[in-house]
Amino acid sequence: MIPFLNLKEINAQYKSELKEACARVIDSGWYIMGSELTSFEQEFAEYCGAKHCIGVANGLDALTLTLRAWKEMNILQDGDEVIVQANTYIASILAITENNLKPVLIEPDSKTYNLSVAGIEKALTSKTKVILPVHLYGQISPMLEINKFAKEHNLLVLEDCAQAHGATINGVKAGSWGDAAGFSFYPGKNLGALGDAGAITTSDDELAQTLRALRNYGSHKKYENLYKGVNSRLDEIQAAMLRVKLNYLPQETEIRQHIAKRYCNEIDNKLLDLPQWEGGDDHVFHLFVVRVRDREHFTQYLTENGIQTVIHYPIPPHKQKSYIEFNETSLPLTEEIHREVVSLPIDPTLTDDDVSSIISKINGYSDAEVN
Ligand SMILES: *Cc1c(COP(=O)(O)O)cnc(C)c1O
Repeated sequence: MIPFLNLKEINAQYKSELKEACARVIDSGWYIMGSELTSFEQEFAEYCGAKHCIGVANGLDALTLTLRAWKEMNILQDGDEVIVQANTYIASILAITENNLKPVLIEPDSKTYNLSVAGIEKALTSKTKVILPVHLYGQISPMLEINKFAKEHNLLVLEDCAQAHGATINGVKAGSWGDAAGFSFYPGKNLGALGDAGAITTSDDELAQTLRALRNYGSHKKYENLYKGVNSRLDEIQAAMLRVKLNYLPQETEIRQHIAKRYCNEIDNKLLDLPQWEGGDDHVFHLFVVRVRDREHFTQYLTENGIQTVIHYPIPPHKQKSYIEFNETSLPLTEEIHREVVSLPIDPTLTDDDVSSIISKINGYSDAEVN
């Protein structure tokens, strides 16, 4: 079986360095908010081209706390609207509703699955305060256009970079385009910890300072509390793991792009829609998502042929029981996407032979026996 994602193999490549880093933390006697976190924050801010990085417990908290910080800074108020693509992972939307803000779910661009300015323009109201572009599957959103629109309409931009570490436009990385950006370092993400972790990047000094307090009980100074904050810290062991893995991110991204290039050039089956990609660094292929009309038949065929696939995601957020208030909303494109998407294996430990075998099986797929 070719697994969808081989986390054990990925981390095994760096085993001795990871163990060394772990031992360094154990021996230091300091496990929360210490020098590993400070160093990782500096290194990751520099990697993204942002002034600040604030480590938090996970990607959901990165997004939730950023919106919360803007509320504490009196920039946002209850009921303000946040425009986001409807086909995102539910975490992007949970961050909005957790803050008593209103998610305005819009259909994505049908080719890139990301926000388009045309879509944002249609959803704009006097209550719109934030655009939340999710760089879905690893492909950066059209940030030049989004930032221009945001500036014209005095809106904040919060990038959801959970799937797009290192994606760039004109050499400028995801995480440095918006007013702030939320990252996840969940183990399966392109930059993955060995547990939960997340971060916010921003070049806004006041926002960074507010976030540093919010993640630590609302405390800016020991035993003095400015806000009713939370406990959402990135611990020393995970920071140390991430420092090791950040060094290998560029190389892993290149391998992902190499595999994606092979899939795009060599998959030749008219039953599949492939990602729209020109071959540049705008896409870091957290996921390689294809669309197939008869998804169940296709995934069953691949399973029978020893290839594991995953669906990202089977049910759109507005159809989830948790969002009963949106269940009646009709978003036909989003619903079609959720019915048809399949993610093929793509991780830096796949060999060229694995990729060849996946391609040849897919090219041999037909819907003949379905009809
Ligand atoms: C993974 C993910 C998140 C949440 O990150 P966690 O670290 O799992 O909380 C948010 N948004 C998107 C698009 C994601 O893929």
